[in-house]
Amino acid sequence: MGGLHRQVTDAMEECVRQGFFPRSKPPYGYHSLTTDIPARSGYKKRLAIEPKESETVKLIFSLSETGTTGEPWGLKRIAAYLNSIGIIKRGRKWAVNDVHGILRNTAYTGNYVWGKIRPNNRHGRVPISARIPSIVDEKQFHRVKLGLEKRSPFKTDRNGKVRKNQSAIDELGYRSKTLLTGFLKCDICGASLRVITGKSGRYHYYKCWTRVTVGNSLCSCPSIPKAKLEEAIIGAVSSRFQDHHSIDKLIRGLEAKLRESSKSLSKKVEILKAQNTRLKASLETLYEALSEGSLTLDEVLQETISSKRARMVNLSDQIRDIEAQISPNLFRRGKKHTEAFCKAINEALFSDNTEVTKAYLKTVISEIRVTPSEVRVSGKRLQLASAVSEWLPSTLVPRVPSAVSNWCPGQDLNLRPVP
Ligand SMILES: [Zn+2]
Repeated sequence: MGGLHRQVTDAMEECVRQGFFPRSKPPYGYHSLTTDIPARSGYKKRLAIEPKESETVKLIFSLSETGTTGEPWGLKRIAAYLNSIGIIKRGRKWAVNDVHGILRNTAYTGNYVWGKIRPNNRHGRVPISARIPSIVDEKQFHRVKLGLEKRSPFKTDRNGKVRKNQSAIDELGYRSKTLLTGFLKCDICGASLRVITGKSGRYHYYKCWTRVTVGNSLCSCPSIPKAKLEEAIIGAVSSRFQDHHSIDKLIRGLEAKLRESSKSLSKKVEILKAQNTRLKASLETLYEALSEGSLTLDEVLQETISSKRARMVNLSDQIRDIEAQISPNLFRRGKKHTEAFCKAINEALFSDNTEVTKAYLKTVISEIRVTPSEVRVSGKRLQLASAVSEWLPSTLVPRVPSAVSNWCPGQDLNLRPVP
């Protein structure tokens, strides 16, 4: 009996290897085309792109990568969105798992893998892959994969153990549609503050998560009415950006500092490069003397040469490290640009679209600490300067500066404390 089973499987494997599709149900995004090549029963089939479904596949990848405004969307949100606009998955509604399955299926890059979950895998059969028409490119597939891993609340460590992915859990807060979730930290216990709804259902509060999940007695962090806190934060940030002259001054002050530090780093590089040149010259002299026969290569000389070489490698590494620290001209966009950014952020702060408001807040604020007596808003100057410099008047939602070097950490924007 095992013999026949194996024969059938062998035949199917061969079929896939030749680029044919042996099943009745093609993956979403494809349909099967019947060829004129006879098969065991009927004719052999190939996979071809199903135009409508493949558009949905592309949409799913695009939403997972950049959403509709530049921020990636989660699986749940994608499924809900598709269902809400009436796109169905072959007769039924999209579930979170369907979306995940599509995002992880290499078939869409043209690499159809057959036999991953076959029960007879224990017989030591390896999956077979076949080339089929692709729907998304491999680079996007990879970016999406990295994004999914980064945002997953769990990660698998080197030993295969599943662990909590803390940075993803923190990031979830920022992805929450609630304006201040993700920014708010309890100064007493370090937990984040999230929205809870009062008994009547009418009032919403930001409350320390320790108090919500473990108990009110464990932390004395005050709960703050949601609307009141949001209004205060928006007011404070907005007033900071009313005066575009002072923002411009702040950025130019930073520019000057950056230039200075770049100058001193460049000087260091010059010195190291000169040392490198001298080493190289002395090595060349040695090689010349060796080739002319005026020197013989004994152990001492060999050691001298290899130590000089090692020092050269070391110097090159140092030079590369320092050069990486020299900031490119990040800013230098001019007064007009700063003014336009200030205007845009002020509009965004009072926008009806919380996502837009939040995206702008993310570019200029790093944290909001809640203490029993005050609420402290902080953001790094460099973060702000990069946000302004990277901002383009045409973008709806600014990108959060990704490569902010940490040369002056911990600088507050010194926003007014909120009462
Ligand atoms: Zn707390």
